[in-house]
Amino acid sequence: MKILVINSGSSSIKFQLLQMPAEQLLCKGMADRIGGQDSQLSYKTETANIQETLAIENHKQGLQKIVELLLDKEVGVIGDKSEITAVGHRVVQGGQLFSETTLITDRVKQEIQAFADLAPLHNPPNYEGILVSEQLFPAARQVAVFDTAFHQTIPEIANQYAIPKKLYLEYGIQVYGFHGVSHQYVSQQAIKYLALRKSKIITLHLGNGCSMTAVKDGQSIDHSMGFTPSNGLIMGSRSGDIDHGIIFHLVDKLGYDLDKVNTLLNKESGLLGLTGFRDLRDIEAQAEQGNADCRLALDMSAYRIKKYIGAYAAVMNGLDAIVFTAGIGENSRLMRALVCADMDFLGIDLDETKNAHNAEAIQEINTPSSKVKVLVIPTKEELEIARQAHKLLS
Ligand code: AMP
Repeated sequence: MKILVINSGSSSIKFQLLQMPAEQLLCKGMADRIGGQDSQLSYKTETANIQETLAIENHKQGLQKIVELLLDKEVGVIGDKSEITAVGHRVVQGGQLFSETTLITDRVKQEIQAFADLAPLHNPPNYEGILVSEQLFPAARQVAVFDTAFHQTIPEIANQYAIPKKLYLEYGIQVYGFHGVSHQYVSQQAIKYLALRKSKIITLHLGNGCSMTAVKDGQSIDHSMGFTPSNGLIMGSRSGDIDHGIIFHLVDKLGYDLDKVNTLLNKESGLLGLTGFRDLRDIEAQAEQGNADCRLALDMSAYRIKKYIGAYAAVMNGLDAIVFTAGIGENSRLMRALVCADMDFLGIDLDETKNAHNAEAIQEINTPSSKVKVLVIPTKEELEIARQAHKLLS
């Protein structure tokens, strides 16, 4: 069964074509900067590597270009569109309704549209990707894999805010959690690696967006992002946790309107607000050259992560492993070292030599005597989406 995985964002479509259940990657790529004259199209197979700059007006045109390459006589990997049995779509927000991967019907589409209120930046382009894919692959089954689904197991004790109950019951204001596909994939890989029947794991997805999940016996029981992906850790340009009193102060005393507050907290804060740089590579390089703001931002990021590790170890009453993943988690040995420093009280002891290597596969970077395993596991969200779509249809 060939499954096309689509991750449709506001101005991009990422895709992978996988042969399942062999989990063989046939090709992958991306249409980026959709809507401009200088859109980028990338397409990679075992033998071809294409990068093109061209005008892509909208998502439909973007996906059409991808289909042309998939079918191309020279670089294509399929002879006919009908070879694609299913298209797996990443959908960010599934609200209180979707706790599992779901076959897309008209009703499911309506719900995904309705949840745009809760994820205005993500659900509309996800929805658009589904419509375009239905037109281009009429014979394929369309499947939605929700980023919130993995977190549906978070119990009431952790998913409710201490605000009037009516807002939870009638308006769905609660912790939804995000990056669920990634947290699910790496936690399952960790459980398999550790060969534990019962497990207490903390997964750290540290990329442009950063989040952490407490995973007990394979289920998400708490998570650092909340109603929106703004909560929790310090991110590229998002503040993470702040005292909401600051918002009232900005509006009442400093003349901000709510749009400006929103922009400030989501686009101008985090590492960018602290240092002027949003990419951790730049911040590490600057810190190395003595930039004190960058040094402090690194320490602040690690400190926030440590606080969540402590909290999750407490609520799980133990800890078997912590797992680093995504751009920063997989590549920044400095951030891993800062997070794991002085954590011997919790039984975390990093091996500096093992930490210095970045590997493609699962890697254990703790000392032999460390009570808690420290793992680096590259996230494979597209593979997880394909696995879930395959499981649903088998
Ligand atoms: P992601 O959202 O998972 O693609 O992660 C993107 C982020 O990972 C970038 O913004 C960088 O801050 C970070 N990153 C990627 N490679 C490295 C690296 N070698 N060292 C430090 N940070 C990195």
